[in-house]
Amino acid sequence: MGKCCSKRQDAQPIGYKKTEIGISSKYSNGGSLDRYTPNPNQVGAQARVDIIRPRPTPSHSQRANRIVVALYKYAARQSTDVSFEKGDRMEVLDDTERDWWKVLHLTTQQEGLIPWNFVAVERSVESEDWFFDDVSRKEAGKLLLVDENPRGTFLVRPSEHTPRGYSLSVKDWEEGRGHHVKHYKIKPLDNGGFYIATNQTFSTLPALVMAYSKNALGLCHVLAKPCPKPQPEMWDLGPELRDKWEMNRNQIQLIRKLGHGNFGEVWYGKWKNQIEVAVKTLKPGTMSSKAFLQEAAIMKQFRHRHLVALYAVCSKEEPIYIVQEYMCNGSLLDFLRTGDGKYMHFEDLIYIAAQVASGMEHLEGKQLIHRDLAARNVLIGEKNKAKICDFGLARVIENDEYCPKQGNKFPLKWTAPEAIVYARFSIKSDVWSFGILLMELFTYGQVPYPGMHGREVIEQVEKGYRMPKPVNHYLPDGVYRLMLQCWDGSPEKRPTFEYLNHYFESFNVTSEIPYLEPPTD
Ligand code: AMP
Repeated sequence: MGKCCSKRQDAQPIGYKKTEIGISSKYSNGGSLDRYTPNPNQVGAQARVDIIRPRPTPSHSQRANRIVVALYKYAARQSTDVSFEKGDRMEVLDDTERDWWKVLHLTTQQEGLIPWNFVAVERSVESEDWFFDDVSRKEAGKLLLVDENPRGTFLVRPSEHTPRGYSLSVKDWEEGRGHHVKHYKIKPLDNGGFYIATNQTFSTLPALVMAYSKNALGLCHVLAKPCPKPQPEMWDLGPELRDKWEMNRNQIQLIRKLGHGNFGEVWYGKWKNQIEVAVKTLKPGTMSSKAFLQEAAIMKQFRHRHLVALYAVCSKEEPIYIVQEYMCNGSLLDFLRTGDGKYMHFEDLIYIAAQVASGMEHLEGKQLIHRDLAARNVLIGEKNKAKICDFGLARVIENDEYCPKQGNKFPLKWTAPEAIVYARFSIKSDVWSFGILLMELFTYGQVPYPGMHGREVIEQVEKGYRMPKPVNHYLPDGVYRLMLQCWDGSPEKRPTFEYLNHYFESFNVTSEIPYLEPPTD
């Protein structure tokens, strides 16, 4: 899972206060383990906010010479990086770079670069198999509910709402209810400890986890096994391609054509016969390479777990290649119509909606307008993971494909009236499109405004017509009302993506269990 910010970079050993391991108090506000420091005046809401947003990176000297432990296996991709196995120990020599840290492997004695989000400071809470520092409640549920996980599989994650608090998510099974996930609040104590039930307090999170692993103590089940962690995302193909993303096209092998999109063909391929990638080949004349490179430079900065990663481009000759992260289940539209998406349950559809809203919330925060948000521009990976693609591309298209008045490829049915009529594209016109995407989603890929032509749609929508609630698909009134809000004639009255994300993230879930009754026997 992607780590867009340096959340773990200042982590320290569990059970140690910062002063005990010799880190000056000058930096004591920056560490993610601020959540474990006993003094509540040092932490609180601001510290929690800092955990979510990137913070200035302390200079090399503050963090070098730490020992980190590998959370995953990594195979070196180029001559400058170092391979390691899960559990290997490495000394950090230089961590000034955003994504690649220079280390000395303590077993192989090899020196080189490693992706920083594959490791954690030795003995820090982040190095625990059960600690997931970047998952939402919904994602935790998804990860735990896979069939292979037995009852009692669990994870601990930072609480989305309580500063310094955590949530414990446990897979459970009950007669008549089947498999489901229960979430317990882990509350912080003023003295730095933690508790779930007030009658059982613990000085550290690992102590709490250990106790509940021995005895359920009122939980739905004893903590049986940490949830398997998905491999973190990488934003570069290799260390030598970081910040240098014009790549030699000989390194790309095009293997299988995946489809034909707005911009040209899309291929499944491999980088250096090794790493799976998707390659968009741009139709000659689609855009000027200068404009595209400017845009791609911006797109490369957009890192979020629900935005498709742009790895590199080959723009020196036509056709331009855009090398992207490969998403194994293709577009959401195809997935819903002809793929496994046909069998998705309502809560899976909500999960997809939440992920798309989350990616769009990120673009909203960065003030980037998508302009072509639709189910065809959302890609699906493993376990219903959804990511938005082609953000930013619509802006640099030079031919008429995106000109409202010409060309039949303009996505009329997805575009807000003010964008069609006055070319007023904004994040609010993206919200309109999101409402249409929701309708595609909940009707399993039905064409919007069935039976109506584009021109008729514009005329009717201008007169106030809106797509009715579908009769042959389940759609709660609340979700339909939300769609209507997205299609408000006044852009400023449409909801924000922040609101939409929150709506779907917290949809249809009972609130977290605030405390446990002590066991009755
Ligand atoms: P597009 O040009 O984005 O409309 O893409 C055309 C088709 O190629 C889509 O419908 C997908 O099935 C497929 N595709 C595009 N990008 C990717 C990707 N990154 N990973 C996997 N499949 C993709």
